[in-house]
Amino acid sequence: MKFCQKCGSMLLPSGDELKCRRCGHTEKRDDTTFISKESMHEKEMPVIEEKERAGLPTIKARCPECGNNKAYWWLRQLRSADEGEVRFFRCTKCDKTWREYS
Ligand SMILES: [Zn+2]
Ligand SMILES: [Zn+2]
Repeated sequence: MKFCQKCGSMLLPSGDELKCRRCGHTEKRDDTTFISKESMHEKEMPVIEEKERAGLPTIKARCPECGNNKAYWWLRQLRSADEGEVRFFRCTKCDKTWREYS
């Protein structure tokens, strides 16, 4: 929110300027104030490091993506306590990662 330097009234957007309704004073619109501070949050999928991945055990599990029946698996504690530990799978063939729903 910006106010008129001359009379103190609220400035209203008018085209690419801000204009005072009371005295007609105009100011350049400061575009930075109109940029949303909210950044895009991508859905968090567990990312495993290459070195961590090398030591992962494999299990017979069907990949929903390519039908391969071998996947790495690991356990991860989720933030919400009531969900407890969840098992994640990662296809050895196509790298599709999914979690086990119980
Ligand atoms: Zn004014
Ligand atoms: Zn796969």
